[in-house]
Amino acid sequence: MADEKFDFATRAIHAGAAPDPTTGARSTPIYQTTAYVFDDVDHAASLFNLQTFGYIYSRLTNPTVAVLEERIANLEGGRAAVCAASGHAAQLLAFFSIMEPGDEFVASRNLYGGSITQFMHAFRKFGWICKFVDPSDPENFRRALTDKTKAIFCEVLANPGGTIVDLEPIAAIAKAAKVPLMVDNTLATPFLCRPFDWGADIVLHSTTKFLAGHGNAMGGAVVESGRFDWFAAGGKFPSMTESDPAYHGLKFAETFGDFGYSMKTRAVGLRDLGPTMAPLNAFLTITGIETLHLRMARHVANAQAVAEFLERHPAVAWVSYAGLASSPYRALARKYMPQGPGSVFTFGVKGGYDAGVALVEGVELFSHLANVGDTRSLVIHPASTTHRQLTTEQQVAAGAGPDTIRLSVGLESADDLIRDLSQALSRTAK
Ligand SMILES: *Cc1c(COP(=O)(O)O)cnc(C)c1O
Repeated sequence: MADEKFDFATRAIHAGAAPDPTTGARSTPIYQTTAYVFDDVDHAASLFNLQTFGYIYSRLTNPTVAVLEERIANLEGGRAAVCAASGHAAQLLAFFSIMEPGDEFVASRNLYGGSITQFMHAFRKFGWICKFVDPSDPENFRRALTDKTKAIFCEVLANPGGTIVDLEPIAAIAKAAKVPLMVDNTLATPFLCRPFDWGADIVLHSTTKFLAGHGNAMGGAVVESGRFDWFAAGGKFPSMTESDPAYHGLKFAETFGDFGYSMKTRAVGLRDLGPTMAPLNAFLTITGIETLHLRMARHVANAQAVAEFLERHPAVAWVSYAGLASSPYRALARKYMPQGPGSVFTFGVKGGYDAGVALVEGVELFSHLANVGDTRSLVIHPASTTHRQLTTEQQVAAGAGPDTIRLSVGLESADDLIRDLSQALSRTAK
């Protein structure tokens, strides 16, 4: 299933998986094991030297997780993938493979709030410096480059506002600077957008969201295109191109070629930092992905219906959904996501903060919680929850002002969702 002769729907169900060779089990078993028996001492030695591919210990590799890795790599059109315990763990691993203390990367400022915090504060402790830029002008990424820049990072479909980043010119800027473009594709999923087709080098996922899809399994993934030339960057990436003392002087980019970055991320990142995905979570995510194409199509259709309802509603001040004719992101949505711009977006209630609180307390079918990408419809008022530590000015800059509500539209009946929002909106006027 490594090639792409099958359509997306077929690959979503089959890629990376085969009946279990010993039992014939048709669905991928949960290999709930910590370790794997060696054939003999020579076999063990070659596994430890990375000369043979196989299983040693589940911090590094596990057969259930391996099926998920191959499936995600296949759906993204990538060369290889490494899964991690969460989306944040995947981001940590992705940067750990290429960054040295004092290095910088440039990131879009339109990101999931947790990523902004991770980049701004936690990464500082490793000596990694993130420069945030407004992604609406791609040239802003070029302006922030220095000789210490090691990557450009963005979300193609950005949380929370459902805004879209123009990947193609940003990929050209990254290419000219000889640094990889990393794209968080969590909200779009490979069903709606494949960043590798637009020049990205590394794709990241919080599989916790739409890939697992049912709000029941944490996970993350780092996917590499296999096209980035680490040697051509002229010594910028010593961890890829220079001898690794922990592996007898092996050079990852030389020995493993177009999957050297994945090998580095696994054999050093996962080995030494340890944020491994649990086999049960891999199983749930594999199962989730089998219906990804059906779910995403329905998520998008429901989001479109809900957004159109909200735009017509007199208690609603504005709606930020790139599928609306009124959206400034409509053209970018058509280019990068012709099947629709996902199902996470924001809108504003008339009456500001108090109206926002009344809405989240008034809904009955929508769940008031901090997550996206569930079968269930979800709602949050960022100013009173995820963004409450920020000043009003900072909230507005993050697209989460006092009147802002974020929805993750699920898979229920659109009519029921609209009825629920309608009754909750009637309470915001009081
Ligand atoms: C949730 C999320 C993350 C972080 O993923 P976790 O699995 O929660 O660690 C990163 N990026 C985006 C866009 C997200 O929605």
